[in-house]
Order: sequence, then C-alpha cells, then structure tokens
Amino acid sequence: MSTPTKTRRAKPKASSARKKSVRAAGASNASAAAWAKRVTGRVTILVAPTLVKFPWAVHGFSTRKGGASKLVPVHSKTAAQVLNLGFTEWDKREAVEANRDSFLRALGATKMRLITLRQVHSDAIHLINRIPPDTLSGDALITRERGLLLAVQTADCVPVLLADTKRRAIAAIHAGWRGTLARIVAKTIGRMHMEFGSQPADIFAAIGPSIGRCSYEVGPEVATQFSSQFANAVEWFDVPRELKHGLSEDQFVAGDGPNPLKWLSMMPPGHDPPPPSVQLDLIAANRWQLLDAGVPPKNISDSGLCTACNTDLLFSHRREQGRTGRMLAAIGIRE
Ligand SMILES: [Zn+2]
Repeated sequence: MSTPTKTRRAKPKASSARKKSVRAAGASNASAAAWAKRVTGRVTILVAPTLVKFPWAVHGFSTRKGGASKLVPVHSKTAAQVLNLGFTEWDKREAVEANRDSFLRALGATKMRLITLRQVHSDAIHLINRIPPDTLSGDALITRERGLLLAVQTADCVPVLLADTKRRAIAAIHAGWRGTLARIVAKTIGRMHMEFGSQPADIFAAIGPSIGRCSYEVGPEVATQFSSQFANAVEWFDVPRELKHGLSEDQFVAGDGPNPLKWLSMMPPGHDPPPPSVQLDLIAANRWQLLDAGVPPKNISDSGLCTACNTDLLFSHRREQGRTGRMLAAIGIRE
C-alpha cells in the first residue's frame, strides 16, 4: 500500500457510450451510479459500484493505460505504451508479465494467484479449488477459495464478474456472442447454486467495458440464432439507420417497435440482395440473463463504456483491426 491511489469518476468520452449508460439506467438504479477510475502509479483500472462495497473481495477491470508494452496502433505510426495483459503475438512475454504485476499491484492483490483460462467461446465453467497445474480451456471460473484471483481476458467481448455476498463465492465470465448465445452467464449462476448453494438474490454483478450496440455489427445469421434461442432477442438488435430507409412500415414495425428479426426472417436464405447486417447489444443480452436468473436489478451495474468508441482508454479488437492488447477483468477473495 505504498503507492498513492487516486480515485475519480469515470467519464466516458463518446456521447453514444454516455447515452447507453443513461438508457441502461432506466432498468436499474445501480447502473446509473458511475464506475470509478482508480489510478495507481501509471495504471488505470475501473471499479464497479456494485462490487466495490464488499471488503472481503477485490476486483477491477484493466484499461490500456500504464503498461510496459509497445503497440503501434493501426491508424498511427507511433508506438504507444499500453497495459497489454494477454500473451498476444506482437508483444513480448516479459512485457505482459510486467504488466500483469502492475495490474495486481493496482488491485492490491500482489499476494494473490492469478488464474486465467484459454478462452474458447464456450459455456465451459471451471470450479477452482486449487491452482490448476495447466491452463484450463473454458470461459468461466468460480471459487470460494481465498487468495485466488479469477480473471478473464477481453478486447470487445463482455466480461462479467459476480460476487455472492452470503456464501462469499465469486465468478469471472467471458461472454462473446457465442458464449452469450450459449447462456454462459445463466449457467454460471446455476453452477454457483449447485456448488455453493448461491441464491440469485445474494449475487451482485458487474458488466465490464465491451463493444456497444453502437459499434457491434453482426450478420443476420447471428440474429437468427439469437431469435431462435431467446424470445425477447428482438430487443437487443437494431437495423443500421441507413438500411431503415428502404423499408416499408409493415416490413419494419411490429408491435411496440422496430423488428429487424421479423424483417430478416422474411428474406429467403441464399437469395439476393444479400441480407444486411444488424447491430447487437451483447450487454443487454447478458444483463437479461442475470435478471432472468433472478439477480435483482439493483445488484447489476454495467460500465456504460463501449470499447470501440473509447480506444484511448480501452482495447477494441474490432476497431483496431486485431492489432490490439487484452484487458483483464479480475475478482478474488481476500486472505
Ligand atoms: Zn461504440
């Protein structure tokens, strides 16, 4: 605790990200509370209002600020120092290890053992009772053991951290569109119930920075898969504005609002014109899984930050065309 720690309110730069968080605030009071930016040395991390209040747990979401890695961003010729926490091919192993040390210092978790996964966009959840001898493949980690720092890596996908305050159990989840479709968040809550007796009402959740509805275009096949899995999937999709103009009212409007899925389903597969893309709100889909599992709205908070709209602060695989780093979302139980 020798490093001075400053805390200030997180300020999303992009107006679209800000609007998102305001819109999300309608569903939950907790999401209206701003996340804090915590600066330790040169490292900036984000902490969630729903988790920061529990003294038995430590948690944080890294940003790109304050690292030892040298990255030449895709739209620039000048290398920038970034906090890359994943073993990407452009980076040196020593730099990533130094960055991970800095991140643990910023969390106040230098004595904890960092547990990460080989992430495979699955619904595989691992119960961690001791330090695994090899890196496990999967996309979620749960534990009740002290001293283990569970972490998932992201650069657009949705990181979700959970804390059950009654049973003192925790989870770290990686949910891209495939994991979201496979309901990894809902399944992790189910697994916590099975292993620890966790009740959803006692679970607090933080949904970290990820690619927002504003920036996440997907093909119609993704929309079709979501609509076949979730009755309310239509709420998570937008048709890009420029495509709306070519549509008649009854093609586009169904019930309360725009229905891109209805429209998409009217297009016969394999016919021209090629089906348009839609914009997917992965955060909303994961928030819904938390709510559907029984987690109270006031226990859920999302950062309101879109990775693609905030590449000064965050890594975005899509916006930076793959030439980017990885952030960690981490949670642990103090010794
Ligand atoms: Zn965006």
